[in-house]
Amino acid sequence: MAFAWRSALDRLDERLALARLAAGPERPALLAFMFHVLFEDEAAMNRHEVDPQQRITVRVFEQFVAYFVAHGYTFVAPADVLRGLDPAGKYALLTFDDGYYNNRLALPILQRYGVPATFFISTHHVEAGQAFWWDAVYRHRHRHPLPPAAQQAEYAHLKQLRHPEVDHYLVDHFGAGALQPVGDLDRPFTPTELQEFARAPEVILGNHTHHHAVLTNYAPAAAKYELAACQQALVRLVGAPASAVAYPNGNASAAVRAAAVGAGLHLGATVQAGKNYLPFDRYGVDVLLLNRFLLWGDQDVARQCALFRTDFHLKQLLRFWRRA
Ligand SMILES: [Zn+2]
Repeated sequence: MAFAWRSALDRLDERLALARLAAGPERPALLAFMFHVLFEDEAAMNRHEVDPQQRITVRVFEQFVAYFVAHGYTFVAPADVLRGLDPAGKYALLTFDDGYYNNRLALPILQRYGVPATFFISTHHVEAGQAFWWDAVYRHRHRHPLPPAAQQAEYAHLKQLRHPEVDHYLVDHFGAGALQPVGDLDRPFTPTELQEFARAPEVILGNHTHHHAVLTNYAPAAAKYELAACQQALVRLVGAPASAVAYPNGNASAAVRAAAVGAGLHLGATVQAGKNYLPFDRYGVDVLLLNRFLLWGDQDVARQCALFRTDFHLKQLLRFWRRA
């Protein structure tokens, strides 16, 4: 019953939000979007070599970019955001986390539309050619499924660990090969591929920590090290450190934010959904803790994009009333 209520409320919320958007223009804001794996097509997704996550194919990604281009959005790089945005503007910041080789598939689309994107790289994975832990879990559990609650608990457990403990868990539970990628779909860029990719003017590299470290699991000095080691690796790989960071799993505390500033990072991205309203100072937007939206490849793209743009949220109003 409670569930039926909630989904009815969701549908009403969406209908009102879309009606509001149809009635007038949205408020000026920076909309940031995060992507992870990019699939060539559905067939690649169905090979179960990599956690499909948002199920984004090249076709869906292009549809998404075309939507925001058609709706008058200016696509920006972190440097544009840091220089300051027009308080009356509508901006999109495209981001890809982790450093998957499959992200190269975005480049022809970025070039076709003349838009930049920021790729947040876990540099140890690139330098060591190591698989991402969630893909190792996905592959193993696809063959040896757990009950849903146990599977959720396993992911939750792994997200609370530091990287050496994650590696031990994978080897202990899934065997010595668990840290090895199985192919081109799940592997990170090699250093040489990343150097070549980063030469495209549409490509900006960002910091995603050296070991994909969920920074709130680390002591302050270790969190600082993870951010600084990624900066140093980016200098080794492409000759320059990053100005932007995406905190793995979105986890950022005050100490993590301070560590990012200490590592020379000026823009930070979380995984909290929401528009970043302009001008930032008036709306209390912290440029080191920007919200980012997630697009889902198995849901209507235009409808999701319209909902990202809308400024009306019934559920937020209801929450506010309850608190008042
Ligand atoms: Zn990540």
